[in-house]
Amino acid sequence: MKKTASIIHPYGVLGLLFLLTACLLLFTVDISVTDEAGVREYLPENLGNNWEGFDVLFCQDPGCGRNWLTRDVPLNEDGVRVCPTNWQGETCGGELLAMSLGEKTVLPRDTVMMKKQYINRENPENTVFTSVVLSGKDRTSIHRPEVCLDAQGNEIEKSVVIEVPLENGKTIKVQVLLINKKYSEKYTRYTYYAYFFIGKDRTTHLHFERLLWMSLDRVFRNVAHRWAYIAVSGERSPFEGDTEYQDEIRDVIGKLYPEISLLEGQ
Ligand SMILES: [Zn+2]
Repeated sequence: MKKTASIIHPYGVLGLLFLLTACLLLFTVDISVTDEAGVREYLPENLGNNWEGFDVLFCQDPGCGRNWLTRDVPLNEDGVRVCPTNWQGETCGGELLAMSLGEKTVLPRDTVMMKKQYINRENPENTVFTSVVLSGKDRTSIHRPEVCLDAQGNEIEKSVVIEVPLENGKTIKVQVLLINKKYSEKYTRYTYYAYFFIGKDRTTHLHFERLLWMSLDRVFRNVAHRWAYIAVSGERSPFEGDTEYQDEIRDVIGKLYPEISLLEGQ
C-alpha cells in the first residue's frame, strides 16, 4: 500500500501544481485576447421544415418580468416595441430586450445573447426554447447551468448524456438535465434542459472540459477565444422510460448545429 501511495503521490502533487499554475496564469498573464468564436451570431428562422422560429423579448420592468414573442407585440407610434401588459393584465409599457433583466444585470455588457422559440409546424403546442450565449471580452459570461436552474426553484431529477448524429456523419455529445418544477400541489411541470459548448475548433458537453481548454489555450497558446453556450429546452413526459424527448433533442440540435457552427466541414 505504502509503495503504491509513494508512486502516485508525486504525480498528484505535480497535477495540483499544474492546476494552480494554470489558475494563477489565468488571472495574471497579459494574454492577447482574440475575438474568435466557433459560432455565427445568429439563430436560423427555421430548423428544417418542421420548426418555425420566433424571437423572444423580455420586459425590463423589475415589477413585471414578462416575456413575449416579437410577433405578438406590434411596433408603437415611435417604432419601438414595449411590454403591453404585466402578468396581472395591467398596462406595463416596460422596455423590451432580447435578454431578461436578471441576465442583463449579471452578464458582462458585451455578452451576445440570442434566443428563439421554435414552434412545431405539425403540432403547434409543441415548442422548444433555444438560446445561445456568446461570451464577450470578459470570459465570465458563461456559468454552470445547474447553478442557475437551482436558483429558479427547479429540481434536477437526473442528468444524462445523449449523442446527436449530424448530417455529415459525425456525432456530438449533449448534456441533458431532466427537470421538474412544482407550481402547486396539483401542477408539476416536467421539462428537459439540453446544453453543450462550442469554442473555436472545439465542441464539448462538459463544463469542466471547456474550462480546461480555456486554461490550456491561455497558458500554451496565449489566446482566449470566445466560447458559446448553447441550450435547448422543452417539455417531457414524467415517466422515466419515455424517452421521446431525446428524439426531439436529436432533431432540433441535429438541425441547429450545422447552421450555427463554424467548425470545418460542419
Ligand atoms: Zn412588462
